[in-house]
Amino acid sequence: MNVVKFGGSSISNSKNIKRVLDLIKRIDEKTIIVVSAIGKTTDLITKAGILASKKDSKYKEVFKKIKSTHFNIIRKLSDINFQVKILTTVQKLFIELENILDGLYNVGEFNKSINDKISSYGEILSSRIIFRIAINQNININYLNSKEIIQVEKSSFDKLIVDYRSTKKKWNHYKDKNTFFRLIMPGFIASDKKNKITTLGRGGSDFTASILAKITNSNKIILWTDVSGLYSANPKIVKQAIPINHLSYEEAMELSHFGAKVIYPPTIQPAMDKKIPIFIKNTFDVRHKGTRIGLNDSVSKSIVKGISHIENISILNVEGSGMIGEPGYIKRVYEVLYHNHVSIVLATQASSEHSICIGIKMDDSLKAKKLIEIEFKNEIKNNIIKKINIDDNQCVITLVGDKMKKHQGISGKMFSALGSNNINVKAISQGSSERNITAVIEKKDVKKAINTLHERFFERNIKEVNLFIIGVGNVGSSLINQIK
Ligand code: ASP
Ligand code: MG
Repeated sequence: MNVVKFGGSSISNSKNIKRVLDLIKRIDEKTIIVVSAIGKTTDLITKAGILASKKDSKYKEVFKKIKSTHFNIIRKLSDINFQVKILTTVQKLFIELENILDGLYNVGEFNKSINDKISSYGEILSSRIIFRIAINQNININYLNSKEIIQVEKSSFDKLIVDYRSTKKKWNHYKDKNTFFRLIMPGFIASDKKNKITTLGRGGSDFTASILAKITNSNKIILWTDVSGLYSANPKIVKQAIPINHLSYEEAMELSHFGAKVIYPPTIQPAMDKKIPIFIKNTFDVRHKGTRIGLNDSVSKSIVKGISHIENISILNVEGSGMIGEPGYIKRVYEVLYHNHVSIVLATQASSEHSICIGIKMDDSLKAKKLIEIEFKNEIKNNIIKKINIDDNQCVITLVGDKMKKHQGISGKMFSALGSNNINVKAISQGSSERNITAVIEKKDVKKAINTLHERFFERNIKEVNLFIIGVGNVGSSLINQIK
């Protein structure tokens, strides 16, 4: 059995869904098909919900837009006599959603669980519609709502935990009672302990696919999206970036955590637990091999696999000679941030214990500063700790590669490349896994830094030079001809 997932952009309109249906038709093994919401539906539903709860009647327009996108697809992809059937189901779902939105408008309320409830309609609609259209096209396919199978709990810190035991139990129950060849299921949604609908977080349909692959012992997972895999760097920033053919689970985890948006980070763990390979492929370029994520990669020769980055980071520095040799400072910094839901992106501490430097999201920077100032009120008063210092507008860039461990000089190359391009490095971190080397630089340098590193580690054979010629007379035009 296999699991395939189609992302929102791959099913954003009738033309794209047609492409996806062609892929679904060609499936020749027992397969679970997971679908995201159509296009930007999740964003739009949340937007409508927020507007409604703020008593802004514009939510009606947003709702209308969502509705017309879905209805257009149905009209374009199914026969007239069949449409009535699909439209009845879909109309019913839209009436439910509209009622909830109207309710939000009346009570002026909005919270996470309301958002879970309304945004779940995105995947329910897309899966129902594609299922019906597939039936209309005589594709042999069955439907199963993920809410009936995937069971999750929330830890005290709102972290989502999949209850694999009950999930597996529910799946076995379904499997014993039903036969199928293709089974379509909505991504993103699950049910909690009280059987209430919840979601797996933004981008969560990838996670749905991986959870299902784990409980069904699948052979592989294919995540179909709108790019040909994970890239050596963000292609929006580095023109020469190329898709990475092979990645280990660990490398993929590092890259996805450090900013590559192509795969939702929690997706990797369940696949890794069962050694199921994940393929990332492009519905708009089906022939492209894409990226394979699997066990240790012995195939590729490259040492550095990718460069990723996170923008909008703040660096918080706690410094003071009074901290030297005194245990417990780090613990207190971490604890106060942990209890207040500020997550730490990166941390460094020198052995002198004279300063602790941590990277956090810029949105958290004021809050974190206040928290630490309160925590160390006495130490600051007695000059054991100097004032807490914050640098906003920083960026974290990371080189990722399992094989960096076995090679010397990678960090040397990295920092000399940055240095010779006048890029100032504020902080450095490398774990002993040596799977990533991370530098903090100013946000304004990020484009230059990533391009410099990409050129240094990936483009040894190609060097791009910008040439400007001013005055194209005799000499200039001869030069151009020679270059040609
Ligand atoms: N529809 C959800 C989102 O946009 C889940 C997904 O697409 O993976 O975040
Ligand atoms: Mg999506």
